[in-house]
Amino acid sequence: MLNDINLVVGAGFSGAVIARLLADKGEKVLVIDKKNHIAGNSYDYRDENGIMIHKYGSHIFHTSNEKVWSFLKRFTDFNQYMHKVIAIIDGAHTTIPFNFNTLYDVFPESLAKRLEEKLLKNFEYNKKVPILEFQKQEDDDLKFLANYVYEKVFLHYTTKQWGVSPKDVDGAVTARVPVYLSKDNRYFQDKYQGIPLAGYTKVVEKILDHKNIQLKLNTEYKNSMQSEYKRIFYTGSIDEFFNYEFGTLPYRSVNFKFETYDREYYQENACVNYPCNYDFTRIHEYKYYLNDKSDKTVIAKEYSEFFELGKNERYYPIPNPQNTELYNKYLQKAKAFDNVYFLGRLGDYKYYDMDKAILRAIELFEEIKL
Ligand code: UDP
Repeated sequence: MLNDINLVVGAGFSGAVIARLLADKGEKVLVIDKKNHIAGNSYDYRDENGIMIHKYGSHIFHTSNEKVWSFLKRFTDFNQYMHKVIAIIDGAHTTIPFNFNTLYDVFPESLAKRLEEKLLKNFEYNKKVPILEFQKQEDDDLKFLANYVYEKVFLHYTTKQWGVSPKDVDGAVTARVPVYLSKDNRYFQDKYQGIPLAGYTKVVEKILDHKNIQLKLNTEYKNSMQSEYKRIFYTGSIDEFFNYEFGTLPYRSVNFKFETYDREYYQENACVNYPCNYDFTRIHEYKYYLNDKSDKTVIAKEYSEFFELGKNERYYPIPNPQNTELYNKYLQKAKAFDNVYFLGRLGDYKYYDMDKAILRAIELFEEIKL
């Protein structure tokens, strides 16, 4: 017997946002999550040293979308943190994405100048060129540069991160970190960027704090719930919803090795990438994000691995034609249910950043007839 309650499965950003929008309109919502905490993979907490730890890896909020920004501003203020990524390439500390400043960090000045001039002649200033497209060069100097960037920035990092050859990684993924014909050292160019002042968990807690929302942690979704609720908003992986009947959707996972050091800082920046050395991809140092003061510091070395059910968490969908076909098979099946909606990185099997996950929840809400 259908009751008048909406069920949201998953208390990450996607679930929390759709729950809140429904609740604001007078709908009753039950939010369940199998984990013992809210905020999904954006979960953060202050450790015993007073440092805000991003349990599932660094989360940096950035958006150019006004709707997303004004929604979030109801629940939090942000600091003015603008993310930069340092990479260590052949011992030189430089900026990622590769840009005009990088040229001068890794090459002798005369060569850097020559390359800069050629780039300015061949490309529009401020343009972002995906690394694979940048490979298509005629000029010998630019060919040399393209090979250098491919080898030193892209090839090993991408192989470590995805566990396959870069040619088998979707172009949209690798285009996230292009060659940037600019002197802008920031990782993101969005209008709004920053870290929520009290952390992400607090934001999600506030989003869920509404008289029409009930939250139950440590609670698994069961198929029998389908007939018990008015609507279901499922932010888990769609293959799990259908008991993996067509097979499992592959994901990349990440293993973070945390270390605490008895000194103020470990490295010069919140995130340092190691595109050429070691098995880990990058090292995060958390105290930078909210400028936490402590005489200790906590870092995490990030090791990528395949997702295995029961062993680790899902982090990244792996977009490729085969996986998309499998996802679409599930989606097709989902069409038979008119009260079940899928959303979020796992529900949509899309590599959303936080702002895109929030936007998707807002847009889905706008489509629903209440
Ligand atoms: N990437 C790379 N070298 C780097 C950083 C990123 O080749 O130093 C590529 C790599 O394929 C990676 C993709 O760019 O998977 C996206 O990186 P991003 O930092 O956006 O990933 P996220 O922070 O979402 O894990």
